[in-house]
Amino acid sequence: MIVKQVCGIFLAMSDEATRLAEGMIAAPRPAARIENHLCEHAGCGMRAPFGFARPRQTPHWFCLAHRAAGDRYL
Ligand SMILES: [Zn+2]
Repeated sequence: MIVKQVCGIFLAMSDEATRLAEGMIAAPRPAARIENHLCEHAGCGMRAPFGFARPRQTPHWFCLAHRAAGDRYL
């Protein structure tokens, strides 16, 4: 997975968001085509297309309903 070193909210709803980052060509790994993060909100477990991250830190992922909870990680 390619994580751009930026501070802010980013989306991973499709491979459109991660391919061709910085002009690089992604490795041909079919398993990497679909982001499959799960919401970190306790008891939720929904697919989480919303990632929150600071530079050089592990992103935290939340679903649409709980994405506001990710603000604490920015
Ligand atoms: Zn959730």
